[in-house]
Amino acid sequence: MHSSKRARAAATTDAIDGLVQVPGASRSGEDCPVCLHTFSAGETLRAMPCAHAFHYDCISQWLCRNAICPICRHQLLVIPDDDKEAKGEHQNQNQRRRMT
Ligand SMILES: [Zn+2]
Ligand SMILES: [Zn+2]
Repeated sequence: MHSSKRARAAATTDAIDGLVQVPGASRSGEDCPVCLHTFSAGETLRAMPCAHAFHYDCISQWLCRNAICPICRHQLLVIPDDDKEAKGEHQNQNQRRRMT
């Protein structure tokens, strides 16, 4: 069993399935940032809340490891764990810098 891998900021299947579906036609000409293949009009993509789009397979695999956008690091739905500090996440910590 692989129980050693702890769910650390990984997206759940529900979160992945909840991504907005985007017709490939609206993104044709763009490349998938994960596999670097060009989107084709006939496929259905998934868009992150930041509006970056990916192949479903690509983003679902990515989100299984990191619940952030591969491009802009927009955070999806994270499962907060006890070690959410000192991870090098520089996104919205300008507002809350606490020194204890
Ligand atoms: Zn892809
Ligand atoms: Zn993004």
